[in-house]
Amino acid sequence: LPLRLIFSLSWQAKMSKPVQAQRLEGIDKNIWVEFVNLAATYSKVNLGQGFPDFPPPDFLKEAFVRAVSGQSQALHQYTRAFGHPPLVKVLAQFFGKLLGRDLDPMTNVMVTVGAYQALFCCFQAFVEEGNEVIIIEPFFDCYEPMVRMAGGTPVFVPLRLKAPEAGRLMSSADWELDPAELASKFSERTKAIVLNSPNNPLGKVFGRRELEAVARLCVRHGALCFSDEVYEWLVYDGRQHLRVASLPGMWERTVTIGSSGKTFSVTGWKVGWAVGPDRLLRHLRTVHQNSVYHCATAAQEAVAQGFQRELELYGKPESYFMQLPRELGQKRDSLVQSLAAVGMKPIVPEGTYFLVADISEFKSDVPEDPSSDEPYDSRFAKWMVKKKGLAAIPFSAFFCDAHKSSHSHFLRFCFAKEEATLKAANDILQAWKREKSSS
Ligand code: PMP
Repeated sequence: LPLRLIFSLSWQAKMSKPVQAQRLEGIDKNIWVEFVNLAATYSKVNLGQGFPDFPPPDFLKEAFVRAVSGQSQALHQYTRAFGHPPLVKVLAQFFGKLLGRDLDPMTNVMVTVGAYQALFCCFQAFVEEGNEVIIIEPFFDCYEPMVRMAGGTPVFVPLRLKAPEAGRLMSSADWELDPAELASKFSERTKAIVLNSPNNPLGKVFGRRELEAVARLCVRHGALCFSDEVYEWLVYDGRQHLRVASLPGMWERTVTIGSSGKTFSVTGWKVGWAVGPDRLLRHLRTVHQNSVYHCATAAQEAVAQGFQRELELYGKPESYFMQLPRELGQKRDSLVQSLAAVGMKPIVPEGTYFLVADISEFKSDVPEDPSSDEPYDSRFAKWMVKKKGLAAIPFSAFFCDAHKSSHSHFLRFCFAKEEATLKAANDILQAWKREKSSS
């Protein structure tokens, strides 16, 4: 064979070997990357990705400005790897009070790059080949690929929709966790369960009975619990957010995850945290010190000051953690009305700043396409942002592949938006409705 051909064949053979690690197989698509792009290109009103379009509280912005413009040069440099001391101290005080136990800021709290990194640390620290991790559907989409990247196998258990009484709007409380079905998923292979209350996307706030069922099963099977509580302050109508780590037998096996992004309306700051016993957190620290190592110092300093203020105002009406849900509750009601008025049936959320609505009545706008692999709601959401300028997220994105098609006639809307944004969304929906009734 001519030398050139031999070179070319051996080059081709080399290139046919995949360049990427096998653990990335099947997890290359990401709903946020796709829909954030679409919203940026087409939307007039963006109720898609979950972030507030109103400003964060002044006291927090001022704390950040002080951190970067003050005399302390140290705030521009590295701080302690596992969390800026003032922040871990106040988080330990704050969550110690909520959980009714003394927390050591150095061993029971770790600061992370948003809740995302806290989750990533959990999966990397505790999950390996042969382990199963139970995920309750619908779920915040990153849990599944994070389990897979760690070599584990996700096992899904759905919330089941109980039909509401006639004449009443659906509520996130109508989606229930069946304790028998949950129990059937636990086995000796179960390493952990991921709990997310209040739940993104439904806004469900898990009740005591459901959490106790989770706790009993975790204790019985020696499983861990990764409790994603980033929406802990966003609960409505007098509902109470319960912390699974406070239930009997759960502190020792739970990592509780939070985020200043949701807590103080600063999703771009990416300051999150994990709280738990040292026997678990020491392994999170191992992952953290060998990956990101450290989070932005000035942002941590500002969040520490924010928490200091909230600690002093705890339970008082001026507390931001009381004020934010009051304001968001009104926004929720306003979006519920807008959607219900045009025939998109909203599921009224008990918590979070998301609202899921049934789009069945709008199906005539986008025909079903049995030849398409894409879930119907995904096609609908793309059509809606391109034709109507309104961005939302398909509900099926929050289910595993096998269950997407049976949950593909809903959209998730974010209502953490200025009044003007919600009004603009209402105008689009009303005009759309008029168009439909005149055609
Ligand atoms: N968990 C849930 C349930 C979320 O909705 C989000 C953000 N959308 C995160 C974690 C990630 O939070 P952060 O932005 O702090 O990384």
